[in-house]
Amino acid sequence: MKVTECIKNKGDKTLFSFEILPPLKGENIQNIFNHIDPLMEFKPPFIDVTYHREEYVYKKRENGLLEKKAIRKRPGTVGICSAIKNRYEVEPVPHIICGGFTKEETENALIDLHFLGINNVLVLRGDPIKTEGRFVPEPDGHHYATELLEQVHNMNEGLYLDDSLENATHTDFCIGVAGYPEKHFEAPNIRSDLRWLKKKIEMGADYIVTQMFFDNQKFFSFVKDCREQGITVPIIPGLKPITTKRHINVLPSIFHIDIPEALSDEVEKCKDNAQVKQVGVEWAIQQSKELMEFGVPVLHYYSMGKSDTILRVAKELF
Ligand code: FAD
Repeated sequence: MKVTECIKNKGDKTLFSFEILPPLKGENIQNIFNHIDPLMEFKPPFIDVTYHREEYVYKKRENGLLEKKAIRKRPGTVGICSAIKNRYEVEPVPHIICGGFTKEETENALIDLHFLGINNVLVLRGDPIKTEGRFVPEPDGHHYATELLEQVHNMNEGLYLDDSLENATHTDFCIGVAGYPEKHFEAPNIRSDLRWLKKKIEMGADYIVTQMFFDNQKFFSFVKDCREQGITVPIIPGLKPITTKRHINVLPSIFHIDIPEALSDEVEKCKDNAQVKQVGVEWAIQQSKELMEFGVPVLHYYSMGKSDTILRVAKELF
């Protein structure tokens, strides 16, 4: 079922969903099942699986020269999606990104997903890799999520890159895109960011999932701005329970978001990470309750490889 259909059929309930990361190369898929199993009790209609492109590492050769090597630390998004679909009968939502993909490779990945019966995708640009200061697309790849979205939308219309194909099968992807209550870090201002978000909707995106945020007021004002711009699709808030003291510095630097003073003050007072987890869980529960009252269709949690805190939050709410 498509994410938008899950939302349409949900009645008065707020749905529960979460995002997982593929395991590190060399790890077993059982690690992922161990994260998902305890959360199935809360009946997530869909589970997102992130995509991680290659990174470059430099290895020293015997002659002293450095060798540049591309390594993908977390491959396996498509395989995990298929495993989730078979094992849990839940809709997997693979993330697909522009970075590292030519248009041809994107088309082939979408064909694989379509053959596997996966009808949901979250379409993203991807971040710049660490060795590049800014995002650089593949020579024949996409610069922005809008362009990737156009390719997915075209395939939904039966238009493939090879226009000599006759009677090509229409795919039927439900398309999600990312939104940023605190602005995407490259956008000059929130207005400009919203204009591009609106463009993604006009080009066929069906719903928005937000970057994590810790201050609900930022989400409420984002939703208001979106509605004023004529964006009418469902907007799903993304939440992350803080679990370590490091998070209050690391999350703002990675995700370009603010941690409210009240939360960082509470975390500073904690003696160990068990106490931080407690603070993080309580904050996420309060955020979730307020968002439920606001009427969000789904509460979507970022697990970042750890499900124990999400389990504690879900037990209070679902
Ligand atoms: P875009 O929508 O392309 O926007 C990028 C920037 O360009 C913005 O500043 C926007 O305002 C501007 N812009 C957009 N379109 C245009 C245009 N046509 N012309 C000029 N400017 C434009 N990354 C991963 O690598 N893997 C993942 O699995 C992943 N999952 C994510 C899930 C969620 C819910 C979110 C919120 C983010 C995720 N990311 C992931 C991170 C994401 O890839 C980065 O935030 C990336 O920097 C931007 O992606 P986007 O799709 O929002 O980009």
